[in-house]
Amino acid sequence: MRRVLIDTHIHLDAKAYADDWPAVLDRAVEAGVAHVVTPATTLESARRLLKMASEDDRVRPAVGVHPHEAGSWCAEQLAELSELVERAVAVGEIGLDFHYDFAAPEQQLCCLRAQLDVAREHSLPVILHCREAEESLYEELRRARLPAGGVVHCFTGGWEWAERFLELGYFLGITGMVTFPKLADIHEVARRIPLERLLLETDGPYLAPIPFRGKRNEPGYVPLIASRVAELRGVDSEQVARATSASANRLFARQ
Ligand SMILES: [Zn+2]
Ligand SMILES: [Zn+2]
Repeated sequence: MRRVLIDTHIHLDAKAYADDWPAVLDRAVEAGVAHVVTPATTLESARRLLKMASEDDRVRPAVGVHPHEAGSWCAEQLAELSELVERAVAVGEIGLDFHYDFAAPEQQLCCLRAQLDVAREHSLPVILHCREAEESLYEELRRARLPAGGVVHCFTGGWEWAERFLELGYFLGITGMVTFPKLADIHEVARRIPLERLLLETDGPYLAPIPFRGKRNEPGYVPLIASRVAELRGVDSEQVARATSASANRLFARQ
């Protein structure tokens, strides 16, 4: 049986794909990856992705402002975002990043809260970025009570935080980092998470899995991530593919 996987997080509007993104998607389909969910980082990025989606139905866009860009967040952006989400499968990529601090924590919180409200109003799921900010993000999500839930993507917070986000009803995203040796925290999450709560993602263009580490990442590499997760859990990758794709289709059901 042919595997049908989904890349639930790739920045397909990144410069790295500007010249050949349709070919990148062709290679993905050949590798068994049916479509991709592409989160935006800014409203400009959101408009680019919506255009790409109108040209290619393998592109499922999410619309949102990344915490790195929260410094420029303002009321006009909120108005435009509320319009753009009508054509999106999720609100994202939103969240908190206290590692890089490109924007002040208060600005990040303000930007996140406004976008969680948009997700609630439109009953859309959220795609969440979280770096060294688990406690604050958890509190925001607990208060927000979003009807459609969402995913904490590229989860690196360790098993204790994983359990708490799972209790809140969120999915967790695992990237090609799971193929890197020594990342015991990520391996543990990949082993212990209920399979139906796991989503696979490349987070391209970065974080290419082994044996492509350091090169441009592509959605066609999702099978390598599925295989490594299957190996860690002692199941076959067919089972991982089926469960994670069913979850992705359920969460991003609008299109
Ligand atoms: Zn991210
Ligand atoms: Zn991202």
